[in-house]
Amino acid sequence: MFVSDILSRKGGLVYTVTPGTSVAQISQQLSTRRIGSVLVLDAGSSVAGIVSERDLVRAFASHGAAALEFEARNVMTRDVVTCDPDDSIDHVMEQMTRGRFRHLPVVRHGELLGLVSIGDVVKARLEEARHETEALRAYIVAG
Ligand code: AMP
Repeated sequence: MFVSDILSRKGGLVYTVTPGTSVAQISQQLSTRRIGSVLVLDAGSSVAGIVSERDLVRAFASHGAAALEFEARNVMTRDVVTCDPDDSIDHVMEQMTRGRFRHLPVVRHGELLGLVSIGDVVKARLEEARHETEALRAYIVAG
């Protein structure tokens, strides 16, 4: 199974903010949309960074309520790791494990095509395992 299979099911919607969006607004978005991160796009629509709930927790732990006034540019991770639609689910799992993050934007030729979360990856992997089990069972019964 590949990243493109996940995107064909969940679609390519990615929630984004600008570098000037406040931490208060980002917290609101994460809460109301029930998501764990937002991508930060610059004026030219290219990926400038990513802000996840972990970045917010870190900012609140260090700065308390004052962090609500910070902007995305102050808390985001700038070196965003991305994946390709043709990457396998296993490869993406490895990337997430190695990088210790749970979100991967999908980019091809500079174009943002979607975002996969660890939840999407686990769901896809479980489905794959279920299909494998069913195929094996059918093979045994047929034999
Ligand atoms: P997460 O586990 O995705 O909530 O993120 C944990 C940390 O990794 C946070 O500091 C995020 O900003 C950062 N992060 C999340 N996704 C990525 C990514 N695709 N590339 C680089 N850093 C990331």
